[in-house]
Amino acid sequence: MKEQIYTIPVNEIYDKTCLCPLCELEERIEKESVEYALGAAMMEPDFRVESNERGYCKKHYAKMFEKPNKLSLALVLDTHLIELRKKLDAHKKSVSALTKAKSGLFKKSGAFDISNSLYDFSDKLSHDCMVCKKVDFTMERYIDVILYMYFTKPEFKEKFDNSNGFCMEHFKDVCKMIPKCLSDSQAREFIPMLFDKQLKKLDTLQEDIHNFTLKFDYRNKDMPWGNAKDAPIRTIEALAGKITKSE
Ligand SMILES: [Zn+2]
Ligand SMILES: [Zn+2]
Repeated sequence: MKEQIYTIPVNEIYDKTCLCPLCELEERIEKESVEYALGAAMMEPDFRVESNERGYCKKHYAKMFEKPNKLSLALVLDTHLIELRKKLDAHKKSVSALTKAKSGLFKKSGAFDISNSLYDFSDKLSHDCMVCKKVDFTMERYIDVILYMYFTKPEFKEKFDNSNGFCMEHFKDVCKMIPKCLSDSQAREFIPMLFDKQLKKLDTLQEDIHNFTLKFDYRNKDMPWGNAKDAPIRTIEALAGKITKSE
């Protein structure tokens, strides 16, 4: 039996109609993880050690900055900077040696190797994020649960059959998980069904976004908007995932 901490939110989301259930779940877990990082985690030594070590990505620093608790944020930043500077210290010797290094036609100073290793270090830093880690882990569990319940819980299968697939970003994530979660015969049943849902979703959006463009022609000024009015944002979110806030 799959853990209820994952099955309950999945079932709840599938009771509502939305553009992409995984976007809704992701938004929720992201919000909880940011709140945790600035709240209860302050008292968790293991989390603090890892947070000091890894830090956060730009998107999640921005979300942390939106929160009123600036002291927690400053404590997180202060201790992360200590760790970051320790790691940069490890490069200090080789960087300062460059000013004395000799190079010539056949002899390289090693400066490019150092810039490459500084690039690798900084690149890892900008992709290492405690919130992303938690979100990625939880989203994999949610997808696992969706695929599991589709084949074991008829009441969930019915909800899924009435849903309209995922945004293209989460469609990608679901496709990635299919080989890990389903048998070959289950995948043969699931993939065509999901593919069909995605196509239908895009067909509807295409119609709406096309009608939106037609409304800009003065000859169509009396044409009713229908579902076209919010077609640009719905199309963007169906392609790239949810960007509007539900709060
Ligand atoms: Zn999505
Ligand atoms: Zn992040």
